[in-house]
Amino acid sequence: MATINDNYLKLKAGYLFPEIARRVNGFAETNPDAKIIRLGIGDVTEPLPAACRTAMINAVEEMGDRATFKGYGPEQGYAWLREKIAAHDFQSRGCDIDASEIFVSDGSKCDTGNILDIFGNDNTIAVTDPVYPVYVDTNVMAGHTGAATNRGEFEGLVYLPITAENQFTAEIPTQKVDLIYLCFPNNPTGATATREHLQAWVDYAKAHGSIIFFDAAYEGFIADPEIPHSIYEIKEAKDCAIEFRSFSKNAGFTGIRCALTVVPKTLLAKAADGSNIELWKLWNRRQSTKFNGVSYIVQRGAEAVYSEEGQTQTRSLIHFYMENAKIIREQLTGAGLQVYGGVNAPYVWVQTPNSLSSWDFFDKLLHTCNVVGTPGSGFGAAGEGYFRLSAFNSRENVETAMKRITEKFKA
Ligand SMILES: *Cc1c(COP(=O)(O)O)cnc(C)c1O
Repeated sequence: MATINDNYLKLKAGYLFPEIARRVNGFAETNPDAKIIRLGIGDVTEPLPAACRTAMINAVEEMGDRATFKGYGPEQGYAWLREKIAAHDFQSRGCDIDASEIFVSDGSKCDTGNILDIFGNDNTIAVTDPVYPVYVDTNVMAGHTGAATNRGEFEGLVYLPITAENQFTAEIPTQKVDLIYLCFPNNPTGATATREHLQAWVDYAKAHGSIIFFDAAYEGFIADPEIPHSIYEIKEAKDCAIEFRSFSKNAGFTGIRCALTVVPKTLLAKAADGSNIELWKLWNRRQSTKFNGVSYIVQRGAEAVYSEEGQTQTRSLIHFYMENAKIIREQLTGAGLQVYGGVNAPYVWVQTPNSLSSWDFFDKLLHTCNVVGTPGSGFGAAGEGYFRLSAFNSRENVETAMKRITEKFKA
């Protein structure tokens, strides 16, 4: 009989969101009149910018004419999109990134998992705690870890706590790690990384020959001009970092699907024979073999994000969500809760009151306010005692949810 990849059996059975659904459905059954508001989701809610819609409609029409019809495109993405990304997202911020170093894809979730294809199986891997679960689970699937401990951590991974105690910075490890996943602005904590913090990581990576996987999915939400949007704003990051970006959150593309990965040509890693190999060549080979590019229509939609109209519309979309975040922050603070994040990121990270566990606070909020959030412990052991609220929702839902919470929590 055929055998399976046994590493899949080590995965914890997708615990967090099914458990949330189980508790919410149970409550809804016994309280059919409760108007439950979900502030737990990490998905956008507002319509796609008009500039993107118009560009995609035009692209569909081009497909209907033999003269402008498009078949397979370049696996790496069309040059016109890669050039706009390079100029607008990188060169305009002083980052020396060339269009040829940008690989357009159908999502950062896929890219952050797929990137492991081009790395060896003997690397030491560091993740933050709490963490975007994709980074951990893809390493488990690839056989890079041992079994899960009863703390829910995987043997063999190095966990870097990000908590209030360390001002939500991932502390530089004392040991040598080869691959490091960083996500700033952070999901789930809403924390950001300063230039000094990222410089310390780049210095560490350069000193140890490590590669940083920098997930900048939320860079569009940065309001503070001092905070870097790209790791390549840090000197010498081109020698030690791969950056992931996505149109999902800043342009509402979660259902359309378009993202990009930057692999600088200067990035090297070691082969078994000790020689240094360009990672760009391997990723180019990997994408050309296992991926056939993002649809022409979607790439035209993504290109429209960089038009004047698209810029105005995406900025107002982000502004809308960040107003929600501001309302959440202010209302919860007024109700006596300690909150973090929500200033340069669409997530507000709430410290649970009275040392309640994340799940006890989840139940309390569900039962007394009919509001659903995400227990911090679901993102890692260091998330215990925290709770994530998302700003991705309608203004009405956010205002109603905050009204209910302040009424219940105000002493
Ligand atoms: C939403 C999100 C992404 C984007 O994923 P896509 O597959 O591009 O939709 C990437 N990283 C993090 C941490 C996210 O929360």
